[in-house]
Amino acid sequence: MELLDKIQILADSAKYDVACASSGVTRRAKPDQLGNASACGICHSWSEDGRCISLLKILYTNVCIYDCAYCINRHSNDRPRASFTPQELIELVIGFYKRNYIEGLFLSSGVKHSPDKTMEELLEVVKKLRTEHRFNGYIHLKLIPGASHDFIRQVGRYVDRLSVNLELPTMESLKLLAPDKGEAHILPSIRAISEQLNERRPDFLPAGQSTQVIIGATPDTDHTILQLSQALYRKRKLKRVYYSAYIPVNPDHPHLPARVESPKLREHRLYQSDWLLRFYGFDADELLSEGLPHLNLSLDPKAGWALNHLEVFPVDVMRASYYELLRVPGIGPISAKRITRARAFGRLSYDQLKKAGVVLKRAKYFITSDGQLVRPEGLGLLEKPSQLQKQLLLVEPKLLPAMPVQLDYFDLYPDIFSLAEPGKTDVLAHLRKEQHGLLD
Ligand code: SF4
Repeated sequence: MELLDKIQILADSAKYDVACASSGVTRRAKPDQLGNASACGICHSWSEDGRCISLLKILYTNVCIYDCAYCINRHSNDRPRASFTPQELIELVIGFYKRNYIEGLFLSSGVKHSPDKTMEELLEVVKKLRTEHRFNGYIHLKLIPGASHDFIRQVGRYVDRLSVNLELPTMESLKLLAPDKGEAHILPSIRAISEQLNERRPDFLPAGQSTQVIIGATPDTDHTILQLSQALYRKRKLKRVYYSAYIPVNPDHPHLPARVESPKLREHRLYQSDWLLRFYGFDADELLSEGLPHLNLSLDPKAGWALNHLEVFPVDVMRASYYELLRVPGIGPISAKRITRARAFGRLSYDQLKKAGVVLKRAKYFITSDGQLVRPEGLGLLEKPSQLQKQLLLVEPKLLPAMPVQLDYFDLYPDIFSLAEPGKTDVLAHLRKEQHGLLD
């Protein structure tokens, strides 16, 4: 098979993996090395200086001995299959990097022959990239479920981030939909990475570990999912849990929902709640409970929490602690810090709160400043929850059309693999023209 065909198949097969957001690594270019890594995001997020950073997101192989029900690459699916050799993939990464198409690599893979054999080849790719080609860009590698834990120590020296896909929120769901992977492989691998990270070896996985959970393929509740994420953040010190709205690629499977629409809005609300767990001091059991197991999709989760806990409001901005301020809809970590500094100089007015970055169209219902309303229409609504909810819904951003989605390299350059559209960015055309140049 031609290399170009492999690229097309393996790039397409990788699009269901969620790899993105901040890399968490800053590594400047070095004189004898190729590339650098930025702390501000690697997969088409924006860096502090406004740069869009991209990575090559690709599978090493889409051949797989496993048969996970939700996966397009499962072995019982009849689809074109391809595999790189380590050398082909290395040359592709270096070629793309030199041409400025990418700034990093996200590498995942199906399980060819056996987990250890596949991991061996992935290790060869990342090791040679770093040692022979002096590639200094960001690398995120997926650990193959079931591979020996010895690989963690080895690949951890060459990659920035290692992740193991948890895939489903409960072991029951995993047994049902991904019986080959199963609990025996996934959680022990996450634990093993976390234990090795605790050893704090220099240059070992500087961007830590992350995982990915599919949302909506099973009846697991948002409460269960957030409890799981919280445990992973607290006990295993994961950097990120990625939520991936279920996409029905195998809709006829008897264990999968016959869902037409992917639950993107639910995914978005989970990301917002995840943010509350990590940066706002919330606990999963505060946001949801057995009696209230799902997030309100129409409202921002913090506004939803506030509506269910009106007894803690109003919060007085002149006296509240930092964490009490963080619980007010419309106040985030930056504005809360500014408030705690600015109030030392006197009572904060509506305009001063606005200058501090408080989103007053939300916050005005929930706060006082030195016992006084910051807006006359503010406080009365605390006594009228249904009216308050209506007001909050009015200021809720219209999410659906503009909802943030995970981009990948191929979203940003949609024509990159197009053969038919001359004049647009077209890597295949470059590859054809530079057949001898790109891979040298
Ligand atoms: S192991 Fe990975 S690639 Fe293979 S079927 Fe399961 S999810 Fe798909």
